[in-house]
Amino acid sequence: MAIEASPPSMFSPWPDRLRHAAIILLVAALALATLVFFGELTPLRAVIVFACIAGAALVPWRLHDSDAARDEALVNPVEQPAVRAVVGGIPDPAVLLDRAGRVIHLNAAAEQLAPALRKGELAQFALRSPEIISALREAIANTEPRRTSYVDHVPVDRWMDLMITPVSVPTAFGGTDTCMLMTFHDQTPIRRVEEMRADFIANASHELRTPLATLSGFIDTLQGPAKDDAKARERFLGIMHTQASRMARLIDDLLSLSRVELSAHVRAEALIDILPIIRQVGDSLELLATERGVKIEMHLPDGPVFVAGDREELLRLFENLIENALKYGASGGRVEVTLAPASTTDGASEIRVSVRDFGPGIAPEHLPRLTERFYRVDVGDSRAQGGTGLGLSLVKHILNRHRGRLLIESVPKNGATFTAAFPQAKVAGKSA
Ligand code: ADP
Repeated sequence: MAIEASPPSMFSPWPDRLRHAAIILLVAALALATLVFFGELTPLRAVIVFACIAGAALVPWRLHDSDAARDEALVNPVEQPAVRAVVGGIPDPAVLLDRAGRVIHLNAAAEQLAPALRKGELAQFALRSPEIISALREAIANTEPRRTSYVDHVPVDRWMDLMITPVSVPTAFGGTDTCMLMTFHDQTPIRRVEEMRADFIANASHELRTPLATLSGFIDTLQGPAKDDAKARERFLGIMHTQASRMARLIDDLLSLSRVELSAHVRAEALIDILPIIRQVGDSLELLATERGVKIEMHLPDGPVFVAGDREELLRLFENLIENALKYGASGGRVEVTLAPASTTDGASEIRVSVRDFGPGIAPEHLPRLTERFYRVDVGDSRAQGGTGLGLSLVKHILNRHRGRLLIESVPKNGATFTAAFPQAKVAGKSA
């Protein structure tokens, strides 16, 4: 069924009433004119009788309409405020149409989705997507629910689901008719999460497959051509050990990431003094620092400094930041770890732990992507350093769980500063 350009609305009672009155008056006028024509009635009497008939036809109608509110209730139940409130209360964009496809009610979300939609106008003029129009036609023609999906390209790509449901409504004359309730559901966030999940699995498999392929290759070589070569065996076993450790590190990081994500909604509440944690991480990385020729300088208060948090996660966080500074900023020969109080732009107190290196720094275009899983500025360099590409992602998730934030500043050729900012913890009624 095609939607007509301007079909009659099923809810307007005025044409019927006017038509009835007009027919009565026309018949009366004809009858009186005939009587006058044959001399049975004087014109004056005919006019008086016509006035009486006109009064009888029109006065009850006017009286009936004097109570506007009552008339509104009788005339058009579907336009009542209660129906408008129901449509308005639907959280997704929702539009109620009459059987002709004309808008009766629409909620604020629908106005935002399709600003061209107007009450009393045909929805097809405002919703131009062919999928919507054909679903609407089918739903109206068959009085059946219809579901369709389409992509809205303006202002940005959005994947939308549309459900059209026929709704039976009472009419002003005691019968029922059918309206169409259109509800839209934005599927874009779900699509994006699905894409991210697929990317993540592809990345994780690729990262695991690379060392696995190396291991299989060396196993084949050791079983075949290098079977009796003791020197080659020693060298290959060393490489195999490195690759196996890389796989283990990757699995460790993946598990840590999923653990932190699982508990993201549970606030870490234990009061932890972070100074011993930072010192412990510094001590454990001393060997790596010596190997790379880097000096770790700690600028810490005498303490204690409390943060509401999880000890193991805080250890992982500082380990990742300081290890990255030692790995990627080694050429600067120095890494500074500083703890200082600060305040946010809206005046809240924070504790900031910054890890600064004096290495090559990071080009500005990489900064916004550093905390994405598997994102590396230089994949070869990261692999050579034993990196998994998950460290900063883990740092970001740990900080999210601690209601903190990660600040990254870098000037290429002049080092990088990674700052973990934590909200100031309240200790026994006062700030730590
Ligand atoms: P990875 O396991 O590769 O170290 P991360 O998530 O910890 O993964 O870091 C992501 C990337 O960010 C690194 O591969 C590196 O390119 C860059 N990066 C991190 N820290 C620094 C730093 N202090 N200086 C320069 N680049 C850094």
